[in-house]
Amino acid sequence: MAANPLAPMLDAHVHLPGYSDPAEVVARARMKGIRLVSVTVSDQIEVFKAQVEVAERLKKPMQVHSRGAEERCLEVLEGYSLRPLLMHWFEGEDCVSRVIARERFVSFGPAILYSKKLQKIADRCPPEFVLAESDGPVAFAALGGAEGPGLIPSVAFKLGEVWGKSFDEVVLQLSLNERRLFG
Ligand SMILES: [Zn+2]
Repeated sequence: MAANPLAPMLDAHVHLPGYSDPAEVVARARMKGIRLVSVTVSDQIEVFKAQVEVAERLKKPMQVHSRGAEERCLEVLEGYSLRPLLMHWFEGEDCVSRVIARERFVSFGPAILYSKKLQKIADRCPPEFVLAESDGPVAFAALGGAEGPGLIPSVAFKLGEVWGKSFDEVVLQLSLNERRLFG
């Protein structure tokens, strides 16, 4: 697929340290016009709170892996005025309205290609607050073991199906969102 120079795509959440050859992953993504946001993970609530405080003080964008702990994460975050904020791989069907109400960004990964639950959540999310991500090197058994930033165009295509938008419209929207989130 040719890269669109007006709206290069972004993989908003990928674990580069998880690959044996991160430079090769970056080079391959670049050839497809896909840029990457690499993340590291901490699962301790005290570390999480400290990071939230730093992000708020410096007004830096932050992304939160809330999967399986959506309520707990939202409870911590609601004590802060943090914006912009990205909820990575958000699966908290019952808390979508809480996330939307605070104008927080939500990212969807390759699981949206087959998960009806994620498609339903995406349908409820305003397109102007959504990003695409691969969560690489997580491999998706339902997609024949596919993984990595090369799946970003497929995620964008599926979002277009859910929202009734063309692929180009979605790519442009994601690109505008990215600029608002990361500046
Ligand atoms: Zn992740």
